[in-house]
Amino acid sequence: MEPADKLQEIAKQVSVCTLCPLHRGRKRAVPGEGPAASEILFIGEGPGFYENEQGRPFVGAAGKFLEELLESIHLKRSDVFITNVVKCRPPGNRDPLPEEISTCTGTYLFDQIETINPGVILTLGRFCMGLFLRDARISSVHGKPLTVNGRLVVPMFHPAAALHQPALRASIVDDFGRLPVLIQNIKKAAPAKQPEEPAPSPHGPEQLSLF
Ligand code: URA
Repeated sequence: MEPADKLQEIAKQVSVCTLCPLHRGRKRAVPGEGPAASEILFIGEGPGFYENEQGRPFVGAAGKFLEELLESIHLKRSDVFITNVVKCRPPGNRDPLPEEISTCTGTYLFDQIETINPGVILTLGRFCMGLFLRDARISSVHGKPLTVNGRLVVPMFHPAAALHQPALRASIVDDFGRLPVLIQNIKKAAPAKQPEEPAPSPHGPEQLSLF
């Protein structure tokens, strides 16, 4: 199946999913959006109020900030794929529970990653970081690329957190500023995409490479 068709199929399944309790409060599921062959994949935490209304990721204040961050490195949101750890809004924007995370990622997110096969994954916030890096503190590892199953993963602060905290805001702006070089290096190292690469597993990083 072509990647775009496969992503559509995943989105269709997400929209009717009842595998965890989060579906009960769902108005619209938020599978994610972007080009199927995107080199860059952003993964947030989960839909908030506006995302649940519209069925699209990062459409509220955090999304506006994310768009500004992308613009600062000359990217548009349509250049990248954006999704979340969980695809339905946790009630009252509470943290997603471990079982909700494992069900949703095991059924959808890891399949999306395998299908998109991005060169770089940007994890936004600690829940997504936790899928790739166990027991790390985001305050220590943000902006530092690591290799997980042959793929570059860069943990970032969540834009919603950074929006109102000047120190985090400065950090995320700074971390974004270093992305173009990382992306350029990946393109040089692997000019042609290998579609059959296995999906990352939640078993932690193979190696931590600090550039
Ligand atoms: N925060 C997230 O983590 N994801 C969204 O889609 C919106 C806000």
